[in-house]
Amino acid sequence: MNDLSNSLAAADIAHSMHPYTNMRAHEQQGPMIITRGSGIHVYDTNGKEYIEGMAGLWSVAVGFSEQRLVDAATKQMQELPYYHTFAHKAHEPQIRLAEKLAEMTPANLTKCFFTNSGSEANDTVVKMVWYMNNALGRPEKKKFLARNKGYHGITVASGSLTGLAGNHRDFDLPAIPVTHLTTPHFWRYGLDGESEVEFTARLLKEAEDTILAEGPETIGAFIGEPVMGAGGVMVPPEGYWPGIAALCKKYDILLVADEVINGFGRLGTAFGCEKYGFEPDILVLSKQISSSYMPLAAIMVTEEVYGAIADNTAKLGSFGHGFTGSGHPVAAAVGLENLKIIEERDLIGNAARLEEQFQTGLRQYSDHPLVGEVRGVGLIAGLELVADKATRKSFEPAGMMAAKASAFCTEEGLISRSVYETLALCPPLIVTEDDVAEIILRMGRGLDRTYEWAK
Ligand code: PLP
Repeated sequence: MNDLSNSLAAADIAHSMHPYTNMRAHEQQGPMIITRGSGIHVYDTNGKEYIEGMAGLWSVAVGFSEQRLVDAATKQMQELPYYHTFAHKAHEPQIRLAEKLAEMTPANLTKCFFTNSGSEANDTVVKMVWYMNNALGRPEKKKFLARNKGYHGITVASGSLTGLAGNHRDFDLPAIPVTHLTTPHFWRYGLDGESEVEFTARLLKEAEDTILAEGPETIGAFIGEPVMGAGGVMVPPEGYWPGIAALCKKYDILLVADEVINGFGRLGTAFGCEKYGFEPDILVLSKQISSSYMPLAAIMVTEEVYGAIADNTAKLGSFGHGFTGSGHPVAAAVGLENLKIIEERDLIGNAARLEEQFQTGLRQYSDHPLVGEVRGVGLIAGLELVADKATRKSFEPAGMMAAKASAFCTEEGLISRSVYETLALCPPLIVTEDDVAEIILRMGRGLDRTYEWAK
């Protein structure tokens, strides 16, 4: 490393607390400092090039050097760098983005509320459900159904909806009433001899039994990611989502699709709810909405949800909720331009076209001695590592081998992400056939080096 990177590394260790990082280990090993990006690549302080196989944090759809987004941000900064949207104030970027989202998302979703992050969006969803049900005179209808290994963020309410022990332990979460149901992942949670269809039926029965045991009048909403991301890339079993949607309808429970990762083409369709054939009452969007060039998230709701909330604001005088950055003009301008690029370059179609090459190419590693399952759809995939392929037993300590494999992939020039036992890939939507071939190659090299190391 050069002097600059050394002094930067020392300053980082001295003053930064990193999210999702073992802080004591960080003091020893220091940061990996990324200095610039170009297309699907990022470069570190030594000039080493990496394919960003995770699109940052599942988010940089258009790659790391999109001049149109720089121009959109610059223009907006020059015209109106900031204004808020409280108390009837508005500005064009926020109005146009809400209009665009209403046009792009399923037809029943017409109204939009902006936040800065996915976690804030899901906290807002919790508050909207509570607010709405108080307004409708059913104050007991407040509980949430979520799933184990679901990821919905880390704030107090969204972190409660998240179904991962690492996000709860020592944070005193969950702090809101939520029941976590079985992870819809057939390979890991299917019983011996059970078919996929039987697995789905068992999970739907579990959901219905839970609703009846708790009392449907106490359940406000069900929240889930169509394809689970940060819990380890889990693809739902056949029939799962239509079944969940039917239960929500039957028991008057709002269905919330958290598409912070899935949304805007990740699965090869515009939205995950379209892929799996269900209509959510609330849709949560972030990440690829702005390719993460600016922090931005949006909540889309139906006229029914909006109506109940709006009536209550008329009664109380105001909706007592909102962020300084809600609908930030620079973020909204960047988001709008980013969505135009996704449409003009048909990046959703690109994900659909490359799905076969990406998914089939990665599935060759199903035969690799370290790999238990390769799964995914569109341009998102997970390779779950196992200590024993026959019994599917995981390595111990938990997550160690996937972290090691991810480190070897990084050395091979491919940034992946280890999420528990799984190596995740989620490349920018601008990838080409050649890029996909290179990602698959580098992943193979990383796996082989991990295997040699583990021997
Ligand atoms: N929901 C899902 C599905 C996510 O994947 C994430 C982040 O990864 C979040 C919510 C939280 O978003 P943020 O990190 O912007 O708070």
